[in-house]
Amino acid sequence: MDIKSKIKEEDITNLAQKLIRIPSDEIAGEQEVCEYLSDILKSLGMKVRLQEVLPKRPNIIAEVFGGNNGKSIMFNGHIDTVPIGNIEKWNTDPYKAIIKDNKLFGRGATDMKGSIASMIIAIKYIMNNVENFNGKIIFTGVMAEETTGLGTQKVVEEKIKTDMAIVGEPSDEKIYRAHKGTLWFNIFTYGKLEHSSESDTESNNAIINMMKLIEEINKISKELEGKNNSLVGHPSINVGLIEGGTKQNMIADSCKVSIDRRILPEEEPNEILDELRVRFDNLRLIDNRLKFNIEKDTVREAVEVSESEPIVQEVKRAVNKILNINPIVSGMKATTDMSILVNQGNIPSVIYGPGFIKQAHTIDEFIEVERLVESSQVYAEVLLNILTNN
Ligand SMILES: [Zn+2]
Repeated sequence: MDIKSKIKEEDITNLAQKLIRIPSDEIAGEQEVCEYLSDILKSLGMKVRLQEVLPKRPNIIAEVFGGNNGKSIMFNGHIDTVPIGNIEKWNTDPYKAIIKDNKLFGRGATDMKGSIASMIIAIKYIMNNVENFNGKIIFTGVMAEETTGLGTQKVVEEKIKTDMAIVGEPSDEKIYRAHKGTLWFNIFTYGKLEHSSESDTESNNAIINMMKLIEEINKISKELEGKNNSLVGHPSINVGLIEGGTKQNMIADSCKVSIDRRILPEEEPNEILDELRVRFDNLRLIDNRLKFNIEKDTVREAVEVSESEPIVQEVKRAVNKILNINPIVSGMKATTDMSILVNQGNIPSVIYGPGFIKQAHTIDEFIEVERLVESSQVYAEVLLNILTNN
C-alpha cells in the first residue's frame, strides 16, 4: 500500500485552508469548525458527535471501528487558536490561508489546523485503502486548549477507551514524550494606608514589601536554572503582572503579582507553593511587615511517559520508515493536552505533529506544506501498522 503516492499534498492543504478560513479563537468559531469537520468525518464513514463543553463551544468526537480484536488509537488536536492580535502587523491576511513559496500562512497554520488536516487525510487514507482493519480510530477535535484544556478534560471525563493517543501539536521534527507543566498563582502583600508625606523607611508600603518578595523570587529563578530534567530542561519562574497602590500621594496598602512557574514532571505544585511560603516566612522573621498571601490560580500538569511505551516506539518506527531518519525523542517546554490524556485519562500518549513551536502564536504564522505531508504520511503509517498487524 503506497502511502507516499496516495496521501496527496493538495488534499491536506485544501482542508487546512478551509479550517483556517473559519476563525476560531476563544471568543467564537469552535462550533463552526466542529460542524464543518462533522460533515467531512461523516462522509468518510465515521460515527460523529459534538460534545457540548460550554454553550456553543463543543468538542467533536469521531470514531470508526474495525474488527474486534485490535488496538485503538486516538488523535487529539485542538480546534481553537490564539487570537490574531493586532491585524495591522500582519503582512498576510490571517484568515485567507494563502500558499506562497510552499508555505501556508494564517492563524492556526502551525498551531494546529494544519495538523488536524494531516490527521484527517491520514484517517481518510485508511478508510479508503484498507479493506479490513482491526481495532478503532478515534479523532477528537477539542476546544479551549489555548486557555484551559477544558475540551480534553471533558473527553477524558467521558472515559473514552483507547490504548494510546497522538497529540498533533508542532513537535519540531522530534517526538515528545514529556512536557513541562504550568503553575499560575498570585501573591498579595499588604501595607498601611497613609499620606505620602509621612513616607520613610519605617512605613508599611505594600509595593516595597512586594519588592522584597520579588527579590527572593529572583534568587529562586537563579536556583531553578541549576535544576535539570533530561527531557524538558530546567524549570522557570516569571513575574508577569504587578498591580498595587491607589495613587502617588498615598502609601500603598495592597499589591498583587501574578506568577507563571513552569514545572518539571517530577515537581508537585502544592509542594512548590509550600516551599515558597517557607522562604517568605523566613524573610518575615526579619521584617514583620512582610505579611503575604499566596493563592493558587491554574495548574496544568507536567507529564512524562516511558520511552518503552508502544505509542512512542510506534511513532519512532513510522518516522523512520517514512522520512528515513532516526527521530530524536525528547520533551517539550510548552504545556499541552497530553498531560490531561496521560495523568487523568491514563492514556499513553506522545506529541508528534507538523511544524515548529517557534512558529506558533506568531504574526504571519505559517507552516511549510512539506511538513504537513510528512506528518500525514507518518500518521497513516502508524495507523496502518497498529490496525493491520495484530
Ligand atoms: Zn497548540
